[in-house]
Amino acid sequence: MTAVKLTLDRLTKQYRAGLAPAVDRLDMEVEEGHLVALLGPSGCGKTTTLRMVAGLMDPTAGRIVVDGRDITATPVHERGMGMVFQSYALFPHMDVAANVAFGLQMRRVAKSKQTELVRNALDMVKLGHLASRHPKELSGGQQQRVALARALVVEPTLLLLDEPLSNLDAKLRETMRTEIRSIQRRTGATTLFVTHDQDEALDMADRIAVMNGGLIEQFGTPADIYERPRTRFVADFIGRANLFEASVAAASGTGSKGETVYRIDVPGIGTSEAIGEAGLEGSQRTVLVRPHRVQVELGAQPGGLTGTIENVSYTGDALGYSIRLGDVLLQVERHTADGTIPARGEQATVRWAAEDAYVLPEEVRAP
Ligand code: ATP
Repeated sequence: MTAVKLTLDRLTKQYRAGLAPAVDRLDMEVEEGHLVALLGPSGCGKTTTLRMVAGLMDPTAGRIVVDGRDITATPVHERGMGMVFQSYALFPHMDVAANVAFGLQMRRVAKSKQTELVRNALDMVKLGHLASRHPKELSGGQQQRVALARALVVEPTLLLLDEPLSNLDAKLRETMRTEIRSIQRRTGATTLFVTHDQDEALDMADRIAVMNGGLIEQFGTPADIYERPRTRFVADFIGRANLFEASVAAASGTGSKGETVYRIDVPGIGTSEAIGEAGLEGSQRTVLVRPHRVQVELGAQPGGLTGTIENVSYTGDALGYSIRLGDVLLQVERHTADGTIPARGEQATVRWAAEDAYVLPEEVRAP
């Protein structure tokens, strides 16, 4: 069994009386050695959560527990956490080595030990050769790596990263993703990572907490979050999604992972199949189908749902279609190698394997 490193217990932050809480009775357990992404749109409470864990801000209510010890009232410098914040700049007048040594000085680590630890930390981020440079002589990615080394050098109990890649260009972000992930694996540092970028979260995290309005909508593995979203919000926020309402009819079998296969009836369009949790028969639910999981054939074909192509977009590798099926405008994405490019106004038939359509467990909310 893996140990729980960090527990957030009904953690709440209300900035001002009368305002809705920025973080609202948030519960979460982070396992030792995991990288957990806090993911959500702007203003959902990610940074507020991280700042409370760091000790930079007092919670209004709730508890923060690390290794079984309640640290809610422990001051920031006694928490032993490493932080890389977006606005947490390097000291411009100090060279790289001195920047990295800073936390060790504060902890009054012996000079000779400092030199060794700084060298190790810089080797870890592959910057040993730039130890005597100043921050302004480094690229953005190198600066981020120095910030990471500075956070890691104190062997933090927890590593807290707030959008550490946000100032980098697209290419460097990708490289740094891989680097941070491999450094995190090597050190085994339990890490909380704030991002609003779903690709970053899917790519890097062991677990993702999808936040919305101060609450966690879903906590799970990247595959859970993408393939089995529990709510419409999560389905829509992560990746491209077709979401439509359907009546869930009788169960017609069992999927490969033990889920129930249902017949679904999409009003005014037709019937198809989708999988979901047990016991959804007879309910109205939202169904999710990812655009690249939809198969499409030209013309009206038997056994599928036939509609009209409203739009075609060609981006080299991919062909995107918008296909009108009654009230639903279905987005479809295929490889260009799949066939000829159809024209707008043509008829097309779509279908999907039952396992590629998911009935959300969340009840359809009344309009
Ligand atoms: P972003 O991705 O934009 O950084 P976030 O998810 O990190 O957003 P927070 O910064 O945690 O969100 O903010 C959560 C909510 O709290 C927002 O509605 C924000 O306006 C509000 N908020 C943040 N800081 C304060 C403050 N000092 N006083 C009052 N309200 C605040």
